[in-house]
Amino acid sequence: EVGLVQTPVVRKTICQYCSVGCSMWAEVENGVWTGQEPAFESPINQGTHCAKGAAMREVALGERRLKYPMKKVDGQWQRISWDQALTEVSQKLLAIREKYGPDSAYWLGSAKYSNEQSYIFRKFAAYWGTNNVDHQARICHSTTVAGVANSFGYGAMTNTFNDIRNSKSIIIIGGNPAEAHPVSMLHVLNGKENGAKMIVVDPRFTRTAAHADEYVRIRPGSDVGFLWGLVKIILDNGWEDAEFLQQRVWGIEQVRAEVQKWTPEEVERVCGIAPEQTLRIAQTLAENRPGTLVWCMGLTQSTIGSSKTRAASILQLVLGNMGKTGGGTNIFRGHDNVQGATDLGVSCETLPAYYGLEEGAWKHWCRVWGTDYEYMKSRFQTKELMEKSGMPLSRWMDAVLEDAENIEQPNPVKAMTFWGHAANSITRGPEQLKAMADVELLCVIDPYPTQVAAMVPKENDVYLLPAATTAELHGSVTNSSRSVQWRDKVVEPLFESKTDYWITYQLAKAFGFADEMFKNIEVENGEPVAESILREINKGTWTIGYTAQSPERLKLHMQHQDKFDSITLEGKEEPVKGEYYCLPWPAWGQPEQGHPGTPILYDTSKSVAQGGLPFRARWGVEYEGENLLAEDSYTNDSEIRDGYPEGTLGMIEALGWADELTPKEKLIIISIGTDAFNLGLLDLDDVEASRQFTEIETQLRTDLEDIRSEAEVQDVDEAWQNGSNDEGGDDSANTADNGNGGAKGAGGTA
Ligand code: SF4
Repeated sequence: EVGLVQTPVVRKTICQYCSVGCSMWAEVENGVWTGQEPAFESPINQGTHCAKGAAMREVALGERRLKYPMKKVDGQWQRISWDQALTEVSQKLLAIREKYGPDSAYWLGSAKYSNEQSYIFRKFAAYWGTNNVDHQARICHSTTVAGVANSFGYGAMTNTFNDIRNSKSIIIIGGNPAEAHPVSMLHVLNGKENGAKMIVVDPRFTRTAAHADEYVRIRPGSDVGFLWGLVKIILDNGWEDAEFLQQRVWGIEQVRAEVQKWTPEEVERVCGIAPEQTLRIAQTLAENRPGTLVWCMGLTQSTIGSSKTRAASILQLVLGNMGKTGGGTNIFRGHDNVQGATDLGVSCETLPAYYGLEEGAWKHWCRVWGTDYEYMKSRFQTKELMEKSGMPLSRWMDAVLEDAENIEQPNPVKAMTFWGHAANSITRGPEQLKAMADVELLCVIDPYPTQVAAMVPKENDVYLLPAATTAELHGSVTNSSRSVQWRDKVVEPLFESKTDYWITYQLAKAFGFADEMFKNIEVENGEPVAESILREINKGTWTIGYTAQSPERLKLHMQHQDKFDSITLEGKEEPVKGEYYCLPWPAWGQPEQGHPGTPILYDTSKSVAQGGLPFRARWGVEYEGENLLAEDSYTNDSEIRDGYPEGTLGMIEALGWADELTPKEKLIIISIGTDAFNLGLLDLDDVEASRQFTEIETQLRTDLEDIRSEAEVQDVDEAWQNGSNDEGGDDSANTADNGNGGAKGAGGTA
């Protein structure tokens, strides 16, 4: 009314937290993000979002954001310019490359990247000449990818969130979607309202378990025994889908032999589940088909994660639940774009679209990139290095600390970049700390000072570079159910932060390969254009069908999710349902052919003889019930000290918390990261103690978040106070207090 505020601009964006992929409308006034509403027209969130999604704006505007590039000098953080930061970082990296070879740099990327950034990040590592590149998927769902890809074909969730309403039974193993993926619970509860039987299998009685028709308390780590027990009962009683198995599943006889030892009594001995409950659940699943099996990281983060996901996949094959609406293996992934980052190759062992590292794969991508294969080989120095997997992130510290001859790494790592990745998602804190002290250069690129900034030893060459948040750049993201959605930039990057695209391009320029790397991609104002990157992705991703999702199509779908009731596919008008709107991959062909995407993977309408897909039931499940001892149950924290896992205890000490925490608080930290039951700290059968424990854990989790946030930002806060406050950028939008330590890398649901 007084003419100061312009009409708000409204932009469609996607939540940056979990992999459900809720969309929302952001209101921007005078360039400031002032409000947001969940999108009612979204088939995924249908006008809802959770507390995390509601805090999107606060994360983008948080006062603890990195405001400008910083460097540690004599133990103190100092403000530097972007010019200085890029010059120093690139010159040091080039010197390290010259001296030790290209594998001496490790590029740790992020599940918070857009698809376009994921793609150019992998490409960037290739032009640098290394496969030392990875992201959070390595420590969350890489075992899922191995399990389902070996069983069915693709390493992804098979159906959609919406489709859960069609399930007659829903079994959730190792997942707590009510807290980790809250909006997905909308779909689970829709299914339950429609009459689905809901079963939750978890060592803890969770908020999700509170909704279940049947809660199964399972001894941690013993999931394969329980799954095999269910398969045995189903096969013994003739409850399997014999026709389905006969038509398209190989190896079921091997499964039959394998599961023989898993009698209900053996399941009870190993898993702690009463025989009558195992029987009842097998019968429920058999009588209520099609049913879906949901799992999250309770199943995957384990030394035998791939065996667990294989056994879960085989259970669904035996029941004939694959390739059907209401069925499938619905795997809820972690971060908002962990699926897309995996699809587009932020991995030490694949190129984009799950091409491996063999000569044919490199030649394919070199053709798409317009780069000579021989040139690319020269970047790696040898063909052997080019085709050799890099170090997985869970072992990056080994590549620094160990003698190069003892590891599969040709050169020791001398430079480490945490780009949208906080160290607290990786175990082995003490080794990480030691490795950080050993590298010659450490660079953190993130919107927030993450835990790495607090951990790094003072004498290193350490740089903190402020990255834009996901709300400050354009790009697409792929949710857990493979839907590819366009995320509009809501506001310009705050302070001196720069987009990942810009930083990637500037580093490539400093290293001398930007012209070659971006020869087919438009660059404006020193920044590759997201739409142009996506067009290049469309050209090369034939294996998984990212080919028809052009930027124009994605934007149209996002802006008009409520306007479609039909779509033209190969000249034919097809009616579409809500699930179709977000173009789940594979979307085959060219964009103009209008393929609507594939909400349900694996068309079982055709027999194998007619070209339908075969499935593999056996191979790769290794479990004899032998790993129930606590010392075998931790991926990397295998040493136990004073009753606690060594790695976690070491992390607590490394952060200087050891004296501050009570034994109970230590227990809670450990239970968050691993579990208290396995260590014998809690009695598996004491339900009341378990409930109390959950309550205490929830409370202490909140308290510990505060301690951690303080520890993370302490150094940086001091630097801001001592530094040039008058040059800290435009604070006008700095309206929200945000206690979240790391918009890109820290914590989250992964
Ligand atoms: Fe965001 Fe996940 Fe919550 Fe949806 S469910 S609002 S994507 S955190």
